[in-house]
Amino acid sequence: MTEKKPMLSAAEALDLLLAAVEPIAQTQTLPTLEANGRVLAEGQVSQLNVPPMDNTQMDGYAVRAIDCAGGAARLKVAQRIPAGQVGQPLQAGTAARIFTGAMIPPGADAVVMQEQCEPEKTVEGDFVTIRHAPQAGEWIRRSGEDIRAGSVILQAGTRLRAQELGLAASVGLASLPVVRKPRVAVFFTGDELAMPGEPLKPGAIYNSNRFTLRGLLENLGCEITDYGIVPDSLDATRDTLRRAAAGHDLIITSGGVSVGEEDHIKPAVEAEGRLNMWQIAIKPGKPLAFGEINRADQDSRAYFIGLPGNPVSSFVTFLLFVRPFILRLQGVADVAPKAFRMRADFVLPKGDRRNEFLRAKINGSGGLDLFANQGSAVLTSTAWGDGLIDNPPGQAIGQGDMVRFIPFNELLY
Ligand code: AMP
Ligand code: MG
Repeated sequence: MTEKKPMLSAAEALDLLLAAVEPIAQTQTLPTLEANGRVLAEGQVSQLNVPPMDNTQMDGYAVRAIDCAGGAARLKVAQRIPAGQVGQPLQAGTAARIFTGAMIPPGADAVVMQEQCEPEKTVEGDFVTIRHAPQAGEWIRRSGEDIRAGSVILQAGTRLRAQELGLAASVGLASLPVVRKPRVAVFFTGDELAMPGEPLKPGAIYNSNRFTLRGLLENLGCEITDYGIVPDSLDATRDTLRRAAAGHDLIITSGGVSVGEEDHIKPAVEAEGRLNMWQIAIKPGKPLAFGEINRADQDSRAYFIGLPGNPVSSFVTFLLFVRPFILRLQGVADVAPKAFRMRADFVLPKGDRRNEFLRAKINGSGGLDLFANQGSAVLTSTAWGDGLIDNPPGQAIGQGDMVRFIPFNELLY
């Protein structure tokens, strides 16, 4: 009997995967408006203070606090400063009518909101009675209180979300250097697979993994080439791997990673490159294949990740391993999803030596419900759930126990 290789933990498998990543070196410059979802290639420094000038947070009157110290001061309204206009220096004993976002005139040190003021028109001009004794600085947003000129606002390797784009724009950056999109090839092994739209012949099932995996890759901003369903034959698998290696950073497959006679991924990858077959102590998704496919020029390779065929297994292994791999490929440093301690509102008997990733849903009382059927082909659990419970090997879960929960929002993007 051959000795069985010890199974890898999920963390060990992820470390091995990430250690192998050589990040994409090519970058491009994009208009900031088109950079949503991309990864920043270089850190960005602000050339200016934000806000660029002291300005008012309120509609009201800019004053000298000392002129209003008594709590009821009648001042001449000597000027009017809408947002975008520059006022005159404020003379002692006067006020400036001012509107939110407008620059504070030199000499003023406080703004009194208009609700605390009584304006009055007279033949001598406009006056205002201030019924409040402001602190110096009241309702003033200071220049640089958000960002100081010269400071780093975004680090290289940051994934640009809506808020990072807004931040970049707030310091006037019209374009940003980003890493080029990862180019990912996918195909789906299995003679039993049919496409939605086709009739289902006896013995066939629909290729759901195509939809799940492509959706996940789209979420991560990949350029996808889809080679579709590839028959269970060594030649067809080798041929597709060879074609896919040419223009892609990464090839992802589903199915055929076991060691049955109809599983051709292992010999095909070995013939076209290098392969590690891993047994990972997780449930679902035990087998995972990782390797490299040689390109025709032989000097360079495409990465290869072979996911299991079972739909929940391929979904979960993508979330746990492929997502961080693709992020790291783009130079993202922190690829770990955030997890939360949450209360289990169910019981689960002790499992085997595998780390379970259970489909669970947040219920109305702030706890977690478990989907009843945790089978690796039960896709309903993935659509029903809000995330995965990361349950350590051999751990029973009792009603009210605190468990580690990773929301899908942390795993899908
Ligand atoms: P395999 O890993 O090829 O042995 O497949 C394991 C199980 O997953 C089998 O029941 C397959 O029919 C199923 N399966 C494989 N590929 C897909 C796919 N693309 N979509 C849905 N189910 C699949
Ligand atoms: Mg198969």
